[in-house]
Amino acid sequence: MALRLAREGGHPKPKADQSHSPLAIRGLTVSYGEKPAVFSVDMTVEPGAMTAIIGPNGAGKSTLLKATLGVVRPLSGNVTCWGAPLNKMRARIAYMPQRASVDWDFPTRVIDVVLMGMQRELGLLRRVRTTHLERAMSCLSRVGMEGFADRQIGQLSGGQQQRVFLARALAQEADLYLLDEPFAGVDAATEKAIIAVLKDLKAKGKTVVAVHHDLSTVRDYFDRVFLINTHKVAEGPVETTFTEETLQAAYGGRLASLPMGAVG
Ligand code: ADP
Ligand code: MG
Repeated sequence: MALRLAREGGHPKPKADQSHSPLAIRGLTVSYGEKPAVFSVDMTVEPGAMTAIIGPNGAGKSTLLKATLGVVRPLSGNVTCWGAPLNKMRARIAYMPQRASVDWDFPTRVIDVVLMGMQRELGLLRRVRTTHLERAMSCLSRVGMEGFADRQIGQLSGGQQQRVFLARALAQEADLYLLDEPFAGVDAATEKAIIAVLKDLKAKGKTVVAVHHDLSTVRDYFDRVFLINTHKVAEGPVETTFTEETLQAAYGGRLASLPMGAVG
């Protein structure tokens, strides 16, 4: 069965019921030890919007994304995507982990990293056709990395690697993008390139959820915020929810000064 599907070009994407949220999380609790890292969190992602997940270091932001995708196992909770169990919808969800968590010790070419985004449709035999290569190249050019296809990923700068990982997510042609700190440790040019790509995804009706640490750009970049500090603090449109009150609640005394324009 799997082989036959692979020969026919892999699995087709399941239909997404657009009347449901692309991602609805209910009662998610995750614990690595005795103390929960994420406690009883509900989240409802707005379709076609860009949502920032915000909270201090160690607040459980990465854990929330990982547990949503089953990369770490939650103690309890329920996750649905477009009203269906997450597992059915994986092909429609792209995930970009926090950069530091990926180790590229073994030699891998940039183009192969991008092709990994097409794993599902390439199937078990991984038969890469010209169309796949063309698509991978076009994803690289969307992030300004078309000249680096044959380079080893480990030899690129952090910002360049981040662009390639975004190209891999694009290659999946997903409808929901979960990105863990896409702008962390990148140069200004890369940040500009990445936000342009994300805004373009939004213009195409895709849904973007990104862990974001730079409070000064939240208003420019995002439509909605989700504030977390182990517990959910608040969730809603930037204008009404990204306020001094919610920031203080999320950061406690750890926020020395509020970013310009954060007080709504
Ligand atoms: P954030 O992304 O908001 O900085 P994380 O989700 O990475 O926070 O971490 C939340 C908490 O869980 C932190 O206290 C962190 O130390 C802990 N933690 C994260 N990953 C692990 C792990 N693999 N094993 C044990 N503890 C972890
Ligand atoms: Mg994190």
